[in-house]
Amino acid sequence: MFKPLHIPAGSDIPYTVRVSRRARYARLRISPHDGLIVVVPEHFDKASVPGLVESRRAWIEKVQGSFDRRRLSGISDNGSALPATIELAGIGESWQVSYRGDGRARVAVHEFSGNELQLSGAVHDEARCRSALEAWLKRRADLQLASQLERLASIHGFPVASVSVRKQRSRWGSCSSKGRISLNLKLLFLPPLLVRYIMVHELCHLRHMNHSRRYWSEVARFDPDYAAHDREMKHAWRFVPGWLAAAG
Ligand SMILES: [Zn+2]
Repeated sequence: MFKPLHIPAGSDIPYTVRVSRRARYARLRISPHDGLIVVVPEHFDKASVPGLVESRRAWIEKVQGSFDRRRLSGISDNGSALPATIELAGIGESWQVSYRGDGRARVAVHEFSGNELQLSGAVHDEARCRSALEAWLKRRADLQLASQLERLASIHGFPVASVSVRKQRSRWGSCSSKGRISLNLKLLFLPPLLVRYIMVHELCHLRHMNHSRRYWSEVARFDPDYAAHDREMKHAWRFVPGWLAAAG
């Protein structure tokens, strides 16, 4: 869909021009990986691109400065810097993230086809970007994790009263005596087998509200490798990317 045209050498502000059939007007995009990208519609007059870039100079410098500061402070992409890609292993999705600033005070998140995620608005504000991404993760988890748990429950006849997804610091899931199951949205980043194990673990608490021998033999019926999976869960926090873990 996108075709790189050129990276102007010796330009004051380096950028790449991409022609997009979907674009209806020219827009600027900055990502920590690709730098400044000018996306233009097919029949856009390329001669006006330098002027366009120049007119947005203040914004470009502000956003690029915030990326540079993060790099300089020694935070890499696997650290707590805002992500350029988001790998949701737990639900088999991979997203490319871009940041497009404009004058608005808030940060909006939009999904595009091809698993592109675009943050727009006050993207130089790291805290706002983080909470916008977190809200998006929550929607993804509500949609995918909750329905996966409901499917498991209905196939095996577990009486789940409700499923909720929350960001939690120290628990992967929980099950109340009223049959309410809560899942940690960080499960999105775990290998699918571990996600399934956590779901089985919480569902079996609907039958045994403890970790008794009878409870574990119930778990074993649905996950014969539960002991190995339970051990792996102790180290599973490492699957959670720094940019999300950092926010608690
Ligand atoms: Zn338990």
